[in-house]
Amino acid sequence: MARRFVLPKLVVATHNRGKAGEIATMLSPFGVEIVSAGDLGLPAPDETGTTFEENATIKALAATQASGLPALADDSGLSVHALDGQPGLYTADWEGPTRDAMVGMRRIQDELAARNTAHTEAARAATFHCVLALAWPDEHLELFHGTLDGSIVWPPRGSGGHGYDPCFRPTGDTRTTAEMSDAEKNAISHRGRAFRMMVEACFG
Ligand code: IMP
Repeated sequence: MARRFVLPKLVVATHNRGKAGEIATMLSPFGVEIVSAGDLGLPAPDETGTTFEENATIKALAATQASGLPALADDSGLSVHALDGQPGLYTADWEGPTRDAMVGMRRIQDELAARNTAHTEAARAATFHCVLALAWPDEHLELFHGTLDGSIVWPPRGSGGHGYDPCFRPTGDTRTTAEMSDAEKNAISHRGRAFRMMVEACFG
């Protein structure tokens, strides 16, 4: 049985403004006061894990230990099937030192083209992953993993969302996630799914 969240204040353990914004929007109905790790000046820990679960755990435990408050961390990324799951854990790194998502999207396109597999829908299959880790100061931890299947489109389209959204079209839709409203994206997204699992288990 999952632990219920009762304290009103929560640290969102991310320095990524796009993710922090989506999480704040999703938590807004629950009356939770949110502070971000960035607002508190907490250092971003090294993400030395080998899975999304491990990296989300590292970030949530670091934030709860440093702040004394429960902390919610998100570790997420995009796995392209024909690239053996890359960029996966290294999705943010593929954006380069300036964290420019266009750089990462172009690299995916270039690597698909280099393998000469970029042409068919199946060859462009990809999955967004999101693991949410909710940690308490006594190191109790709850983990939730959401996914969204789709395919890589080129050129990128749309101005909503963040990160790699302009090059990702969910299965069964004609639009990229950057062409959806925030509510439409949250209803189907990897983060929305993980979030609803967490709400049911810990906030209901
Ligand atoms: P992290 O902050 O280390 O977990 O890296 C997450 C990476 O995945 C960043 O490059 C994000 O831009 C990307 N990412 C995660 N979630 C999404 C999303 O919902 N849309 C687009 N890109 C995302």
